[in-house]
Amino acid sequence: MATVSIDRLTKTFPHATRPVLDHVSLEVADGEFLVLVGPSGCGKSTLLRLIAGLEDPTDGTISIDGAVVNDTPPKLRDIAMVFQNYALYPHMTVTENLGFSLRMSHTPHDRAREQVDEVAHVLALETLLDRKPAALSGGQRQRVAMGRAMVRHPKVLLMDEPLSNLDAKLRVAMRGELMRLHQRDATTTLYVTHDQVEAMTLGDRIAVLHDGRIQQVGTPQELYHHPVNVFVAGFIGSPA
Ligand code: ADP
Ligand code: MG
Repeated sequence: MATVSIDRLTKTFPHATRPVLDHVSLEVADGEFLVLVGPSGCGKSTLLRLIAGLEDPTDGTISIDGAVVNDTPPKLRDIAMVFQNYALYPHMTVTENLGFSLRMSHTPHDRAREQVDEVAHVLALETLLDRKPAALSGGQRQRVAMGRAMVRHPKVLLMDEPLSNLDAKLRVAMRGELMRLHQRDATTTLYVTHDQVEAMTLGDRIAVLHDGRIQQVGTPQELYHHPVNVFVAGFIGSPA
């Protein structure tokens, strides 16, 4: 059970003339898959980094299950993040990469092994466990990155354009994989993409970020058929 509530969240970087995020409010419901879209540079990654605790907000609050976590260190937030560039440990095998966070949290060895085996099975990584990242394809690396995030069964999963470095065919396959995993685990997920098709197929709801503000939040159908403004219409609305 996990909900994420963002209330009037504002982020202004030092020396910037205007905030990247300007009083952004957004709720991710328990078990929801919410997709965040918006043009390059609009603050999508910044929003995820704030939720993960990798940046400090200028103003506003971030709550998980109703408790404000602004001052909670990243490690204690029970959030896992998947980055666009995979960020695997190059000197570790797949098994070691998958188990790293479990070792850090002092999970007993047998239990850690079970959890690694389970996630390796789900993501079809069983035959790759002894390889290092350099010996994996892009799609395999990204599966390891996802496995590494999921292995702890975090309360909240944040994914920052996780498929954008993959070719089109693999992207479609991984999209199916993600949907299957979400149906299985129902982990509360905030997923960033600039791919409209990905947003429409994956999102229970879609939030559109532009000019520091959430322009609209709604189901794919709502945004497609009833975009609130020209920007949303241009981004995902119907051409009518
Ligand atoms: P997106 O992920 O939507 O492409 P980002 O969140 O990465 O956008 O960046 C939003 C804006 O904030 C950009 O103008 C970027 O240059 C700026 N920005 C991001 N991180 C920093 C930082 N650490 N210091 C200063 N400016 C930053
Ligand atoms: Mg980004």
